[in-house]
Amino acid sequence: MNLSNCPQCGKVYVTNHYKLCANCLRDIEDQYRKCVDYLRQNRRCNLNELSEGTGVSIRMIIRFIREGRISTKDAPNVQTPCESCGEPIRDGTLCVGCRSKLSRDVQHMHEDTRRKEGLDMNEFGNTYMKDRSKFDKR
Ligand SMILES: [Zn+2]
Ligand SMILES: [Zn+2]
Repeated sequence: MNLSNCPQCGKVYVTNHYKLCANCLRDIEDQYRKCVDYLRQNRRCNLNELSEGTGVSIRMIIRFIREGRISTKDAPNVQTPCESCGEPIRDGTLCVGCRSKLSRDVQHMHEDTRRKEGLDMNEFGNTYMKDRSKFDKR
Protein backbone atom coordinates (compact mmCIF):
# COMPACT_ATOMS: atom_id res chain seq x y z
CA MET A 1 0.00 0.00 0.00
CA ASN A 2 1.54 3.26 -1.11
CA LEU A 3 0.67 6.41 0.76
CA SER A 4 1.32 9.88 -0.54
CA ASN A 5 0.07 13.42 -0.15
CA CYS A 6 -2.79 14.47 -2.33
CA PRO A 7 -1.46 17.22 -4.62
CA GLN A 8 -4.84 18.97 -4.45
CA CYS A 9 -5.57 19.16 -0.71
CA GLY A 10 -2.36 17.85 0.85
CA LYS A 11 -4.05 15.04 2.77
CA VAL A 12 -2.40 11.64 3.02
CA TYR A 13 -4.15 9.06 0.88
CA VAL A 14 -3.59 5.66 -0.70
CA THR A 15 -1.98 6.24 -4.07
CA ASN A 16 -4.24 5.48 -7.00
CA HIS A 17 -4.27 5.83 -10.73
CA TYR A 18 -5.69 9.35 -10.57
CA LYS A 19 -3.04 10.62 -8.14
CA LEU A 20 -5.76 12.27 -6.04
CA CYS A 21 -7.50 11.42 -2.79
CA ALA A 22 -11.09 10.18 -2.87
CA ASN A 23 -12.44 13.53 -1.71
CA CYS A 24 -10.75 15.54 -4.42
CA LEU A 25 -11.62 12.94 -6.98
CA ARG A 26 -15.28 13.29 -6.12
CA ASP A 27 -14.88 17.04 -6.26
CA ILE A 28 -13.41 16.88 -9.74
CA GLU A 29 -16.15 14.50 -10.88
CA ASP A 30 -18.73 17.06 -9.68
CA GLN A 31 -16.98 19.83 -11.54
CA TYR A 32 -16.75 17.70 -14.64
CA ARG A 33 -20.44 16.89 -14.54
CA LYS A 34 -21.29 20.57 -14.12
CA CYS A 35 -19.27 21.42 -17.21
CA VAL A 36 -20.90 18.70 -19.28
CA ASP A 37 -24.38 19.81 -18.17
CA TYR A 38 -23.63 23.43 -18.87
CA LEU A 39 -22.25 22.63 -22.29
CA ARG A 40 -25.32 20.58 -23.14
CA GLN A 41 -27.46 23.66 -22.51
CA ASN A 42 -25.05 26.29 -23.77
CA ARG A 43 -23.28 24.70 -26.63
CA ARG A 44 -21.97 27.98 -27.99
CA CYS A 45 -20.40 29.28 -24.78
CA ASN A 46 -16.73 30.05 -24.61
CA LEU A 47 -14.19 29.10 -21.99
CA ASN A 48 -14.87 32.12 -19.77
CA GLU A 49 -18.63 31.66 -19.89
CA LEU A 50 -18.27 27.99 -19.11
CA SER A 51 -16.09 28.77 -16.12
CA GLU A 52 -18.42 31.49 -14.87
CA GLY A 53 -21.55 29.44 -15.48
CA THR A 54 -20.26 26.39 -13.62
CA GLY A 55 -17.93 27.93 -11.05
CA VAL A 56 -15.24 25.57 -12.28
CA SER A 57 -11.82 27.14 -12.69
CA ILE A 58 -10.52 27.67 -16.20
CA ARG A 59 -7.45 25.64 -15.31
CA MET A 60 -9.62 22.66 -14.42
CA ILE A 61 -11.67 22.97 -17.61
CA ILE A 62 -8.50 23.06 -19.65
CA ARG A 63 -7.40 19.94 -17.84
CA PHE A 64 -10.65 18.18 -18.79
CA ILE A 65 -10.09 19.17 -22.39
CA ARG A 66 -6.45 18.06 -22.34
CA GLU A 67 -7.48 14.74 -20.85
CA GLY A 68 -10.00 14.38 -23.66
CA ARG A 69 -12.93 14.25 -21.23
CA ILE A 70 -14.47 17.36 -22.71
CA SER A 71 -14.30 17.36 -26.45
CA THR A 72 -13.95 20.68 -28.20
CA LYS A 73 -16.30 19.18 -30.78
CA ASP A 74 -19.06 19.47 -28.16
CA ALA A 75 -17.92 23.00 -27.37
CA PRO A 76 -17.04 24.70 -30.63
CA ASN A 77 -16.36 28.04 -28.98
CA VAL A 78 -14.24 26.76 -26.14
CA GLN A 79 -10.64 27.28 -27.00
CA THR A 80 -7.66 26.47 -24.83
CA PRO A 81 -4.58 28.65 -24.64
CA CYS A 82 -1.38 27.50 -26.28
CA GLU A 83 0.88 26.21 -23.51
CA SER A 84 3.74 28.26 -24.79
CA CYS A 85 2.36 31.65 -25.89
CA GLY A 86 -1.26 31.61 -24.62
CA GLU A 87 -2.78 32.04 -28.06
CA PRO A 88 -6.27 30.45 -28.13
CA ILE A 89 -6.28 27.21 -30.08
CA ARG A 90 -8.83 24.53 -30.92
CA ASP A 91 -6.84 21.32 -30.53
CA GLY A 92 -3.74 20.07 -28.83
CA THR A 93 -1.54 21.95 -26.45
CA LEU A 94 0.46 24.20 -28.78
CA CYS A 95 -0.46 26.61 -31.56
CA VAL A 96 0.89 26.03 -35.05
CA GLY A 97 3.61 28.64 -34.61
CA CYS A 98 4.89 27.20 -31.35
CA ARG A 99 4.69 23.68 -32.68
CA SER A 100 6.97 24.42 -35.59
CA LYS A 101 9.26 26.41 -33.30
CA LEU A 102 9.38 23.47 -30.93
CA SER A 103 10.34 21.00 -33.61
CA ARG A 104 13.15 23.37 -34.57
CA ASP A 105 14.27 23.56 -30.93
CA VAL A 106 14.23 19.80 -30.64
CA GLN A 107 16.45 19.62 -33.66
CA HIS A 108 18.87 22.10 -32.08
CA MET A 109 18.77 20.14 -28.87
CA HIS A 110 19.83 17.00 -30.70
CA GLU A 111 22.67 18.91 -32.29
CA ASP A 112 23.74 20.22 -28.89
CA THR A 113 23.66 16.74 -27.41
CA ARG A 114 25.80 15.44 -30.21
CA ARG A 115 28.27 18.27 -29.70
CA LYS A 116 28.36 17.64 -25.97
CA GLU A 117 28.88 13.95 -26.44
CA GLY A 118 31.86 14.78 -28.57
CA LEU A 119 33.26 16.98 -25.77
CA ASP A 120 32.68 14.33 -23.19
CA MET A 121 34.59 11.87 -25.27
CA ASN A 122 37.54 14.27 -25.37
CA GLU A 123 37.41 14.79 -21.64
CA PHE A 124 37.32 11.10 -21.08
CA GLY A 125 40.35 10.74 -23.29
CA ASN A 126 42.27 13.38 -21.31
CA THR A 127 41.44 11.86 -17.97
CA TYR A 128 42.48 8.53 -19.24
CA MET A 129 45.83 9.91 -20.38
CA LYS A 130 46.41 11.66 -17.03
CA ASP A 131 45.60 8.52 -15.14
CA ARG A 132 47.91 6.55 -17.28
CA SER A 133 50.83 8.85 -16.62
CA LYS A 134 50.11 8.43 -12.93
CA PHE A 135 50.22 4.70 -13.38
CA ASP A 136 53.34 4.87 -15.47
CA LYS A 137 55.20 6.61 -12.66
CA ARG A 138 54.55 3.79 -10.26
ZN1 LIG B 1 -7.27 15.60 -1.90
ZN1 LIG C 1 1.79 29.31 -29.19
